[in-house]
Amino acid sequence: MGKGGSRLGAGRPGWRGKTEHCRSLDVRRFAAANMLRTGMWSWQWRDAVTGEEVASIGVIGQTYSIVLSYTAGGEAIRTRVPIVRTDCGFGGSRPWFACPSCSRRVALLFLRSKHFACRHCHRLSYGIQWAFGSYDLVCQFEAADDQTIAAFGAAIAMQGNVRTQTIRTFTRDEMNAILLKLPG
Ligand SMILES: [Zn+2]
Repeated sequence: MGKGGSRLGAGRPGWRGKTEHCRSLDVRRFAAANMLRTGMWSWQWRDAVTGEEVASIGVIGQTYSIVLSYTAGGEAIRTRVPIVRTDCGFGGSRPWFACPSCSRRVALLFLRSKHFACRHCHRLSYGIQWAFGSYDLVCQFEAADDQTIAAFGAAIAMQGNVRTQTIRTFTRDEMNAILLKLPG
C-alpha cells in the first residue's frame, strides 16, 4: 500500500475513507515528507494498485509533538503524539513517536479500536502461526466484513491444495455489544 504526505487543504475533513485501510503511521515517512514541523498537514493512504486515496488523517505539527485529527466509528478524535529525537552522530538526529498510550519510543503507530498506539499496546500478534491439532496453521487478520474474508478464503481454495475454515472472532467492544443484547 503506497503512502504519501501532503499539505492539508482548506475545509478538508481530517479523515476520510475506511479505517481498515489505515494500518500504521511511520515516523520515518513523516520525516521524509517533512511533516515533523509546525503546520497543518494531511497523511493519505493510497491503494497500491490504483494509487487512489483510500483514507486520510489530519496532522497538526507542533514543536515537540504532532496532533492526529481523525474520525473513527463516528467519533471525532484528536490525539497528541510527542516526537522524541535521538542523536545519531554527525550532528543529526532521528525522530521517534512516543506512543500516546505507554510513551514507549517507537517508529510505528497502529490504529486499532479507534486509537493509535504502539504494537506492544495493541499486542499485534498477527501473522501465521504453526499449530498442533486439527489445523496445520492459523492465520489471524482483520477484514472489512465477512464477505471480504469469504472471498479471501475462496481465492486461497482456488490455488488448490489448501482448505480453509474461517472462524469469526470478536473484539472486546464487539463482544460487549453482543452481551448487552442478551435477554435478562
Ligand atoms: Zn504503547
